[in-house]
Amino acid sequence: MNERIKIDLGARSYDIHVGPGMLAEAGTLIAPFARGPLPVVTDANVAFLHLDRFLGVLEHAGLEPKPITVDAGESTKSFFWLEKLIGELIATGVDRGGLVVAFGGGVIGDLTGFAAGILKRGISFAQVPTTLLSQVDSSVGGKTGINIPEGKNLVGVFHQPKVVIADTDVLGTLPRRELLAGYAEVLKIGAVRDADYFAWLEQNATRALHGEHDAIVHTVAHACRMKAHIVERDEQERGERALLNLGHTFGHALETATGFSDRLLHGEGVAIGTVLAFRLSVKLGLCSPQDAARVEAHVKTIGLPAAISDIAGERPSPDVLLAAMAHDKKVKDGKLNFVLARGIGQGFVTDAVPVDAVRDVVS
Ligand code: NAD
Ligand code: MG
Repeated sequence: MNERIKIDLGARSYDIHVGPGMLAEAGTLIAPFARGPLPVVTDANVAFLHLDRFLGVLEHAGLEPKPITVDAGESTKSFFWLEKLIGELIATGVDRGGLVVAFGGGVIGDLTGFAAGILKRGISFAQVPTTLLSQVDSSVGGKTGINIPEGKNLVGVFHQPKVVIADTDVLGTLPRRELLAGYAEVLKIGAVRDADYFAWLEQNATRALHGEHDAIVHTVAHACRMKAHIVERDEQERGERALLNLGHTFGHALETATGFSDRLLHGEGVAIGTVLAFRLSVKLGLCSPQDAARVEAHVKTIGLPAAISDIAGERPSPDVLLAAMAHDKKVKDGKLNFVLARGIGQGFVTDAVPVDAVRDVVS
């Protein structure tokens, strides 16, 4: 049942291991890359739920794990926590030939990967993602970084991990809302690039999200495989990798309008954004209404928000949303940069979307 996905980036290639109970194999999978003290960076929630067992597995393999626990939450992706973490990494005695392990969600992966990427001009790291979002998205592809007051993820480096270990059983303790938010990135990949996968998800995602082994393993492994294909061809996002931003121009504007608050998780914004991107594609005569309806129906079936009106509280105004898009990094030469679709699985990037059509879709 376990799956191994190879991501082929020449000297920076690595394997992604996906399966139930995969944590038990972590010692064996990490050992080839580890030397000396092995910092294991996690957040307080993951530490409470899973750290003891993980440390036990690593010790059993003869490794020397040194746990470092940081606060949980997006605000930990900051210069303050980066500096603090770097101090703690140095205190473990890890040197340039060593390895740092990120054990947690995307926040831990992004912060730890960045710290490893710049400490002593770069130390290797391994990703052990524990949220659905981090298993299918943030742990694959080597983007790392932190947020600054000027914006999210504005400071960081590309730093590929040596290995990724995704234990699907660990998802069992994830709050339902976080699980669904991570799933938005899964359906996005199908919607933008893989019609067969999307059709499979329509049939099987409910089982996957209830933790049925065969379904959740295929869901995670295939999403990783698709992202790996895209990253292999465009590691530094100069072209094709931008397809992964389907739903993100709208999603990011909605996150901005709701103040990056508990009202809307990133994945929830992506879910609404994906529905809106298909609706915009229909409006521009690019995509059939049937395909857009399928995307919307699937988002609803899963229990994700599908419309702006599904967001709690006051509805963000079209003006506020358009202003947010204009400030987004997806704006190039004053034109709105969008991922649109000619149908399910047929996404493409364009930088010439008329603002009026966008306004219609968010009104
Ligand atoms: P997160 O790391 O904050 O995790 C979400 C919550 O779940 C946290 O409270 C965490 O403590 C908790 N948690 C983690 N694992 C758990 C488990 N197994 N059981 C119970 N609780 C658990 O958030 P996330 O959604 O994993 O990641 C979001 C971050 O990822 C954002 O900062 C985003 O910018 C980043 N991201 C990066 C990339 C990339 O390519 N590097 C891609 C997408 C997203
Ligand atoms: Mg995203």
